[in-house]
Formats: sequence, C-alpha cells, structure tokens
Amino acid sequence: MEFKPADPEWLRKQLEGQQDILTAAAERANEYYKSKTCPECGSPTYPVLDTKNPFMADGLTPKCLLQCTYCKTLFEPDTEIRVETGEAYEPLATVADLYVQDLED
Ligand SMILES: [Zn+2]
Repeated sequence: MEFKPADPEWLRKQLEGQQDILTAAAERANEYYKSKTCPECGSPTYPVLDTKNPFMADGLTPKCLLQCTYCKTLFEPDTEIRVETGEAYEPLATVADLYVQDLED
C-alpha cells in the first residue's frame, strides 16, 4: 500500500478556522520517539511511517516504527518487537557462547 499525502493547499483550506489540535499531538509523538533508543545496540533512532498500520484508534498522528541510525534495526516503539533485524549488528556473544565458555572454565 502506498501512502499518498493530501495536497497541502487543499488541507490548508479545510483547516481554516479550526482549532489546532495536531501540533501539540505531533510534538508529543516526536518527544516520545526521540526518547527511544535501539533495543539492540542503544544508538539513537528515527521514526519511519508504519505503512502497514499507519493509524491508531486513539491517536491523532500517524503511527511510526523506529529505525536505528547505526545497526538499522526496525522495531515497534511500545513493545520493542523487532520488525527487521539490523545488518550492522552482530552480537558480541550469544547465550550459547556464554554457556560453552562457562563450561570450559
Ligand atoms: Zn541499533
């Protein structure tokens, strides 16, 4: 599904005389997204429109996923469920590696 934004001039005309409730909602969403770091490597992230599920029942702004600036992991910000695994991220050790290391000591 392709996301097509409405014509900005048409939108401006539709919003003339209406109370601005979107700016505060967008600022709250941006602050929330900025507060999140990558669950894999801890690096900063940036929001990416969730094109498969762009609208929330209780939200005024489009729903976003977050992408890591370093390892490119794409995840859902509330649950931190990974949608795509980053390419640059390689774990220093897996649980299995640590277990084997512990047995050898
Ligand atoms: Zn990362």
